[in-house]
Amino acid sequence: MTASIASDVSMAKVAASDVYSALRQSILDGDIAPGTRINIDAESRRLGVSQTPVREALQHLEGDNLLVYNPGRGYSTTPLLSLAELRSLFEFRLLVEPWAARSAAVDRLSNPSAALRAELKVLELQVDDTANASQDLLAHDARFHDLILSSAGNPVVQQAYVQTHCHLHMFRLYPPDLDGRITLTEHRGIRDAIAAADPAAAEEAMSEHLRNSFHRFARAFGAGSAASPSAAVGRITP
Ligand SMILES: [Zn+2]
Repeated sequence: MTASIASDVSMAKVAASDVYSALRQSILDGDIAPGTRINIDAESRRLGVSQTPVREALQHLEGDNLLVYNPGRGYSTTPLLSLAELRSLFEFRLLVEPWAARSAAVDRLSNPSAALRAELKVLELQVDDTANASQDLLAHDARFHDLILSSAGNPVVQQAYVQTHCHLHMFRLYPPDLDGRITLTEHRGIRDAIAAADPAAAEEAMSEHLRNSFHRFARAFGAGSAASPSAAVGRITP
C-alpha cells in the first residue's frame, strides 16, 4: 500500500509501480534534500527494486520539475524556489485563477460548486487529524484549484497552469497552514461566491486567497509585504 511506503520506504520492498510515489514523497517531505544527487543504484537497493523502475520514476519526476538531469552528472533534486520565482509563480496564478473563478461563477450546469463542496468536506474531515496534515492539505488544495480551472473550460490555460507544478513547489518550501484551517476558510469564501453565481465576488475571493497565500509563503524569506505580487498584476476580466 502506498501509505505504508510513504511512512517508511526503507523498511519494506516497494512495488515497481510505487517507486515514483515513494521517491516523490521523499522529495516533498525533504527526506531527499534540495540539490541532492540521486544515485540510481543506491535508490534501487533502498527500495528493493531493479534499476529500471527507478529510471522510469526519475524521468517522471523530471517532468514534475522535482528533478533536473545533467549529462555526466545524472539526476539531482531541484533547488527550492527563490523569492523571485515564488513571486513569478503567484503573478501567473493571479492572472489566470481569478479569471477562472469568475468564469466558473455562472448559473449553468458547469458551475463546480457541488464538487467544491464535496472537496471541502474531505479537508473538513481531515483537519483534526494531523498525521499527514501537510500532504492532505497539498492534495486538497491542488484538487480544489484544479476543479475551478477545469470548469472554466479552457484547455490551453489549464495546461499552462498544470505545467507550473505550483503545489509541488510551494509545499516543498514548507506547509504554511499546517492544520488547514486558514485554507478552509478562504476556500469556503470562494465556493460560496461561485455557488451564488456571483462572478465579481468569486474573482475577488480568489485574488484575496492567492495574495494571502503568497504572503504566508513569502514570510519564509522575511519579505512578506514588500514582495507583493498584487501591485504588478492587473485584474483580467473576460
Ligand atoms: Zn487554495
